[in-house]
Amino acid sequence: FSSASGPRVCIVGGGPAGFYTAQQLLKARRDAVVDIYERLPVPFGLVRFGVAPDHPEVKNVINTFTQTAQHERCSFYGNVNVGKDVTIEELRQAYHAVVLSYGAEGNRSMKIPGEDLSGVFSAKDFVGWYNGLPNNKELCPDLNCETAVILGQGNVALDVARILLSPVDMLKETDITQNSLAVLAGSNVRRVLIVGRRGPLQIACTIKELREMVNLPNTRADMMPNDFEGIAEALKDLPRPRKRLTELMMKAVKEGRGDKVEKSWGFRFFRSPVEVLAGADGKRATGIRLALNKLEGSGEDTRAVPTGQLEDLECGLIISSIGYKSFPIDPTVPFDPRKAIVPNAMGRVQDTTGLYCSGWVKRGPTGVIATTMNDSFDTARVLIQDMEAGEVDLSVNKAGAQAITALLQTRGVRTVLFPQWEKINAEEEKRGKSLGKPREKLLDVDEMLKIAWS
Ligand code: FAD
Repeated sequence: FSSASGPRVCIVGGGPAGFYTAQQLLKARRDAVVDIYERLPVPFGLVRFGVAPDHPEVKNVINTFTQTAQHERCSFYGNVNVGKDVTIEELRQAYHAVVLSYGAEGNRSMKIPGEDLSGVFSAKDFVGWYNGLPNNKELCPDLNCETAVILGQGNVALDVARILLSPVDMLKETDITQNSLAVLAGSNVRRVLIVGRRGPLQIACTIKELREMVNLPNTRADMMPNDFEGIAEALKDLPRPRKRLTELMMKAVKEGRGDKVEKSWGFRFFRSPVEVLAGADGKRATGIRLALNKLEGSGEDTRAVPTGQLEDLECGLIISSIGYKSFPIDPTVPFDPRKAIVPNAMGRVQDTTGLYCSGWVKRGPTGVIATTMNDSFDTARVLIQDMEAGEVDLSVNKAGAQAITALLQTRGVRTVLFPQWEKINAEEEKRGKSLGKPREKLLDVDEMLKIAWS
């Protein structure tokens, strides 16, 4: 039998995975109460802090998330760092089920000498900087160099390349932060090389992002035609999306678009980073040493194997975009350090009951918002099945947010509720309006809190 108050579910993390899991739970169980706990005072995770400012259409999902947050059986508690302010065990005591949806807040490091030199950044921090992530507000990269090298060839790498090369006039009407806009306006970067260890047929970006690179004004593609040897013959056997992507790349190689243009970008294939090279002061990066690779194997198993040859590239800015990764947030929760995810079967956390996961912490840091949505819906369905099968015990009443907010209060943690986030939102929109932008993000957590609680 069910508890009188219906199932109470707690979600950890207010990004797409958290909101989509909540949405599905609320829809499928008319008696479920869902509370979302988020570390920051502001919701939406990487939709706010990851998605590029010149992709406003992607951010429309915020409207759906807002509807979920405003649902009568859903509450949002921002400014709660789960694992520090409250433990998972405490949440499990207070709820029938807990869903971990806290994303992937770390980055994979290159593990090469020189990685800590100045002028070297992770894409995660660089993206966080131009998107207003409070932790990255001081990053202030020195863009006083001609060549930037990005390591990794996924969509995040292309986002960063595009932001570095886009005319500031195109960016100034987006929600990019004013301080990064000012740094980009003074940038001397004219050439961006995007390096990958494998070849054109293994590239991880999607066609939309590639097309945006090809169409950048005042910028030409600068590729190495040799990298494309044999690709034309391979085209006919490729699945359609990969075929279209490859054809577009080859078109860019051929056309190179305009000699009179000031800026260029290009892929550099078959290369792995070996060492960041320092200038005479030993502090600043002035180049990168790459190992040249050849490919072995075929299909998904194609591997890059070093040929023994090395190549040095001169550059003043290096951004490593080789992937995000999740951290464990609580010692009582199983964690797979190799895959950097919470080990699970279809969203059920291994060796536990009542504990679930969704989004990047469940399947690793890949996939667009739609992938995260499907994955979160799956977790919600599995959770509901478990409730119906009695695997999740609903026979006892759980105190839910009442217990947790009381606990947080005794620890001096004050939450930001959704209407309080809406005050921050209104302030950001107001500041943006005067600058001709959709919003000007607040960069400082204390300032956010002041406005939220005013
Ligand atoms: P996140 O979005 O990371 O959300 C996790 C949330 O958990 C965050 O709000 C975080 O603050 C919170 N959290 C973390 N730790 C704690 C804690 N201890 N306690 C409480 N809360 C916590 N997809 C697209 O479809 N289109 C795009 O254009 C696109 N661009 C992208 C650009 C970049 C740079 C990146 C990195 C990703 C992009 N994606 C894009 C992918 C998309 O952002 C992800 O699929 C999606 O955000 C993953 O959702 P998530 O909820 O698992 O993680």
